[in-house]
Amino acid sequence: MTFKHIDIHSHLNFSQFDEDREAIIAEMKDIGMATICVGTDKKTSAESVELAAQHDNIYATVGIHPTHIEESEGKWEVFDEAYYESLLSPKVVAVGECGLDYFRPPFNKEKQKELFIQQIQFAQKHQLPLMLHCRSSKGTQDAYEDALDILAGSPDVKGNFHFFVGDTSIAERAVEKGFTLSFDGPITFASDYDETIKSIPADMIMAETDAPFAAPVPHRGKRNSPLFVTFVSDRLADIRGEDREAFRAQTLENAKRVFGL
Ligand SMILES: [Zn+2]
Repeated sequence: MTFKHIDIHSHLNFSQFDEDREAIIAEMKDIGMATICVGTDKKTSAESVELAAQHDNIYATVGIHPTHIEESEGKWEVFDEAYYESLLSPKVVAVGECGLDYFRPPFNKEKQKELFIQQIQFAQKHQLPLMLHCRSSKGTQDAYEDALDILAGSPDVKGNFHFFVGDTSIAERAVEKGFTLSFDGPITFASDYDETIKSIPADMIMAETDAPFAAPVPHRGKRNSPLFVTFVSDRLADIRGEDREAFRAQTLENAKRVFGL
């Protein structure tokens, strides 16, 4: 299908949408909106793939979120390559969300890095981009710095830093490496990222919701939805002093290029 809007990162597969998932997808189809439905572990990755198989306007990712590495007490998740391989289809457009999360202790940096590297290798093997999740410890850029150091050893891998909250110099490093950056609801009520948002080249920026989390104004505090991505997109355009329609078209082109849609 052809579409006019895209939310490049949502979790329509999550249980928060069990009551009205189909209604939201139908409304999205009506207005020509697509989304990439993101997996965070074995179960939610399989659900993303299934949803994508049912709907033209849904794409999927498969992978393990860095905070989901502990399967059960004392037992670490290993990247089950055969399992994730079995999920691949033309509708699977990225590996992830994967990366590093140092925000809430306790966490195991070494285990996170191990799992991240396995997913980078998986992405390279299948020539897929990465959907990256990086969250640094308070007041630092540590998760971004470690992720960029790891990615420096993988010259041919590309992708997108989802829910970008890094500083301008991290943004510059990521763009130099060929990675795009996507922004979410918080930019509609916090101006902390404005300078960084203005600094990113037009072909390297995108909008997303991360629904059901982090709803933009005017829905702040409620469940988020891919339908709200326009609030993020319009705000990004306003911060950058660009025309909203033109910005939406440009970011859609960016998504098509990065994810091969
Ligand atoms: Zn997410």
